[in-house]
Amino acid sequence: MRTIKADLHNHIRTWSSMEGLLGKVVDKARQTLGPGGTLGIIDSDDSRYKQLVSQHQKGYADRLSLKNATYFSAQDIWLVHGQEIPVTQNDQQGHLLVLGTGADVRIPSKMSLTDTLTAVANENGAPGIVHPFHKYGLGAAFINDPDLFTAVKGAKIRFWEIYNGSAEFHLGRMFPARANELSEEHYAETLYKQPLLAPVSFTDGHKIRVIGRCCTEMLMPPHKEVKDEEAFVDALGNALSGVRQAWLECHWAGQKRPARLDAFIHAVELAPLVIANELKR
Ligand SMILES: [Zn+2]
Repeated sequence: MRTIKADLHNHIRTWSSMEGLLGKVVDKARQTLGPGGTLGIIDSDDSRYKQLVSQHQKGYADRLSLKNATYFSAQDIWLVHGQEIPVTQNDQQGHLLVLGTGADVRIPSKMSLTDTLTAVANENGAPGIVHPFHKYGLGAAFINDPDLFTAVKGAKIRFWEIYNGSAEFHLGRMFPARANELSEEHYAETLYKQPLLAPVSFTDGHKIRVIGRCCTEMLMPPHKEVKDEEAFVDALGNALSGVRQAWLECHWAGQKRPARLDAFIHAVELAPLVIANELKR
């Protein structure tokens, strides 16, 4: 086992096309996360991860390819597949992040939370709550009904973002202030008692330059011990349990740094789409 830095929530760009970016993404991850760095490439309703890892650039050929993660030997970097899924809970929309599902898996949007978690269980993913008190956060739903954390066997909630670099961006009611403070307060007061819930810090970035701005330190096995997809998810699950343990023993380690400008640019890039959708309604 070795301690590595993981930034498991990154979208790389606002738009879906990942063309020609593999080397840049892996190099940036290596630069900011260091050896063994583990970077989550998060699909929306698209296939960003698959687009990246199906690229073949000189210097990035030596790799271990699993369905849900790819290890680049020369750079000593893991890329991990994830999906951010819009779910409908109490007539509101929120986002659930799932890590470690196969690159071809696309869990449908806008199902109820429990239906979504059932689908996650079928695909052997590790689900987590991201930006709980920011836009599309599910924090209130889980605070009001903590049974939700363990409602679906096989898809118990494994992590809670106590810090999300992009949630440091606030503007009016749409992007509320103090989202991260509130999230960490809830974790410190009650949520640490949830036996499987790890407190994590991830970037949620939409540009290569912010890869690794936030991260959480965790213990992962050497890549040679990760034989298949299931072993990878097991290793990730154990690593998350270790993160919770570290918190309880007061030696949690990671980085919490704002990605405000990145989140602002992302909001600006998305604005025409949001306005067009509003006009269609
Ligand atoms: Zn995100």
